[in-house]
Amino acid sequence: MRQGKIKLGEGRSYPLILGAGIFPLLAEELKKNFPAHNYVIISDCPVMKLYGGELFSLLRKNRLGAHLFDFPAGEENKNRKIWEQLITRMLRAGIGRDSLVIALGGGVVSDLAGFVSAVYMRGIPWVAVPTTLLGMVDASIGGKVGIDLAYGKNLVGAFWQASAVYMDLEVLRTLPRLQFKNGLAEVVKAGLIKDKELFALLERNWKRVLRLSLSELEEIIWRAVRVKVRVVEKDEREESGERKILNYGHTIGHGLEALSGYKLLHGIAVSLGMRVEARISNLLGYFPEAELKRQNQLLFQLGFPSRVSGLLAKKLKTRSGKEQFMNYLYKDKKVRAGKIEMVLLREIGRVKRSQGSWTVPVEEGLIERALEEIL
Ligand code: NAD
Repeated sequence: MRQGKIKLGEGRSYPLILGAGIFPLLAEELKKNFPAHNYVIISDCPVMKLYGGELFSLLRKNRLGAHLFDFPAGEENKNRKIWEQLITRMLRAGIGRDSLVIALGGGVVSDLAGFVSAVYMRGIPWVAVPTTLLGMVDASIGGKVGIDLAYGKNLVGAFWQASAVYMDLEVLRTLPRLQFKNGLAEVVKAGLIKDKELFALLERNWKRVLRLSLSELEEIIWRAVRVKVRVVEKDEREESGERKILNYGHTIGHGLEALSGYKLLHGIAVSLGMRVEARISNLLGYFPEAELKRQNQLLFQLGFPSRVSGLLAKKLKTRSGKEQFMNYLYKDKKVRAGKIEMVLLREIGRVKRSQGSWTVPVEEGLIERALEEIL
């Protein structure tokens, strides 16, 4: 088992616990460390069926007040309607300020439940119990919570840190392969931006990545968690800009996701995004060809595609499709003074810094050239 802390400003910190078999001990742990009048489990329907009932029984066995609130799974439900419904249901059930929310699920659940906690009666505490790989290495850590609007993703939200994050490796056994892959792209990204040892570990183990022992999986996940923790500790609210490095591969990745009408899996989009952004790093003379090959080789070995395919490829090859794609890039939050900015690499495990900034402005022409990498 691994235990660590994320240390934020003004002496604030919270524990992160990763290991196998944490789930059955959760009720006792919460009773001891986070006493509350009511424990509110928020989850999506599939995760509620798999794990919610069990956690509810454990809480009740410990004579704790427990409530279950679920909602249909999927990004399309990370919206204002579900957020308001959850709040209304909690009000009807008499949930007071002396309660604790338990976000049990993937990133959709932690974003939504975290945002419910951030505003419910002006804010109540919550703990994250991530059940996806992406939830563990990314979404549950760092306090960004929120919902999507018709206008775009994650446009309304807050910084509202959890009180603790409990990650049980056993729950990953039921996670569909595709969802595992989604998280794996973020693990590779963590290695590329800040942990060359993690990257090398993946290189040594790519053949067995879906059959790793629990202790091997624990090592890999913990290293990725540490990358996120170190970045958030330095830049909790994205003020110094270092938190932006977590967006490596995401500028292009988000553009591809949008162009596909959000049909492309996030992890696949990010993996393609990393190929293009690595090529841009290379064309600008920052990232050696040999390092780029290592990145792409690992992505290939882990089963990520090297090219876009189908309708998306057709679109990207047309002038109007390319223009549409560029327009999405101009909507990115990193755009500064009308210029597209990206996180670029210097070597595996290290991001390029340019005049004190963690992002580099990139010309449209160069983006188009680098796009050839995946066409
Ligand atoms: P998700 O939460 O939608 O979960 C994916 C699917 O897996 C769901 O259908 C869910 O029911 C199912 N599932 C979850 N755990 C399971 C388990 N153990 N066994 C079987 N099925 C399981 O997707 P995600 O990839 O975890 O999260 C994506 C979301 O995370 C996006 O909304 C994204 O914006 C957000 N995110 C937030 C941050 C942040 O810092 N706040 C960072 C990265 C991503």
